[in-house]
Amino acid sequence: MERQVQETLVDTHPAFVVTEPAKQDLWDTVLDQIDDVARRLNLDPGIHAILRQPERELTVSVPVVMDEGLIKVFTGYRIQHSSARGPCKGGIRYHPDVNLNEVRALAALMTWKCAVVGIPYGGAKGGVQCDPSQMSEDELCRMTRRFTAMIMPIIGAKRDIPAPDVNTNAQTMAWISDTVSMLERKTVIDIVTGKPIPLGGSLGRKEATGRGVAIVTAELLKRKRRKLSDTTVTVQGYGNVGSHVATILHQMGCRIAAVSDVSGGLYNPQGLDIASINQHITAHPRRLLEGYEAPGVEKITNDELLVSDVDVLIPAALEHQIRADNAPYVQAKIIVEGANGPTTREGDEILNDRGVIVVPDILANAGGVVVSYFEWVQDLQCFFWDEAEVNRNLKRIMVRSFKEVWDFSREQGVSLRLGACMLAVDRVAGAVQARGIFP
Ligand code: NAD
Repeated sequence: MERQVQETLVDTHPAFVVTEPAKQDLWDTVLDQIDDVARRLNLDPGIHAILRQPERELTVSVPVVMDEGLIKVFTGYRIQHSSARGPCKGGIRYHPDVNLNEVRALAALMTWKCAVVGIPYGGAKGGVQCDPSQMSEDELCRMTRRFTAMIMPIIGAKRDIPAPDVNTNAQTMAWISDTVSMLERKTVIDIVTGKPIPLGGSLGRKEATGRGVAIVTAELLKRKRRKLSDTTVTVQGYGNVGSHVATILHQMGCRIAAVSDVSGGLYNPQGLDIASINQHITAHPRRLLEGYEAPGVEKITNDELLVSDVDVLIPAALEHQIRADNAPYVQAKIIVEGANGPTTREGDEILNDRGVIVVPDILANAGGVVVSYFEWVQDLQCFFWDEAEVNRNLKRIMVRSFKEVWDFSREQGVSLRLGACMLAVDRVAGAVQARGIFP
């Protein structure tokens, strides 16, 4: 009886934001990959066991007074997968699908990502299960401040440094920095990266992930002896990552044949006018592609976009977009993963069998965390670089990392995904071994 009453309350009372069952897939994929890599590297079983579990997981409830005066309680997470190579680093995501296993998986991917590009961080991720499209700016601000207060015990410049991810941005980071500053009664800017420039943000951070994706795409095309000007590209997702990668590859000479976002896709095999699309997005109240029209531009669905006839496909939206059901029909011969986890395990196997080259997320989209690292360095030193210096150092690290993964994968005869993961796990395992087990 008591349980029935409780269930009814949870189902009907607006204070409860009902949590859906956790999706297992991405975390399962990550665990399978760790197991496979551990076997191939002949990893010490104890270190393998350490890497299979996040170091620390915090689940918090986040009560927020909504604009109409009601209280809603959201669920938030901050998960630190590994601090073996340095303070943990990873974004904060606001999305209805955020759940424990997804955050675990994304935290582990951050550990590998930081290791594969050789920056001195471990991996973390956070998120709040909410639908930001249904919330006002004031509600998002209050939710962010309360969430920050709840995770404050485990974050910090030398502990764990959050950054933006899906549906969070420089403003979100400013609220986090300000909340910590108010509670600690001092200015704290080095606790988050991806901040606005006047609050200690780095020039070039906003474009960094997209720029990194563009740099590795160009490096791969060079290895394939393909000219950028002869290459057609499709980008799924036109948010922070997708819009910048489309813009930068377009500037480098590629033809962008299709782009899409949550409102649908645009297609022109002759090449889209990216500057006018960017103008449209800037003017749109929700920064969407919907309503864009131009001669020769057709509307397509996201499903059609993924299988369109182009040379390079860049998924830059959410997880699990390329799966067993659509991987056989993907026509691109190169996929560069701008998003985290856009390809399922089954999808990946099909692409591999078909000879499609996939540049994995942990390498392809690492540009964001690389410039986050530059931002953190600048904040700690209170000494700021110009944009050319940021971009020069980003390029140096992305080109070097791509070469290391490319050469290692060829030596081992494995895919770029497996090669990148093997390199990363080996580096993290080396750090765990060098530290030893405390106490
Ligand atoms: P964002 O919120 O700025 O953009 C997401 C985009 O995807 C939006 O254009 C949205 O409309 C679109 N989208 C959502 N659902 C879609 C669907 N079903 N089909 C097509 N488009 C859809 O987020 P972002 O920061 O650009 O992140 C995108 C991806 O890149 C995520 O996987 C994120 O984890 C990853 N990533 C982001 C960064 C970064 O610096 N922002 C760094 C590394 C990885």
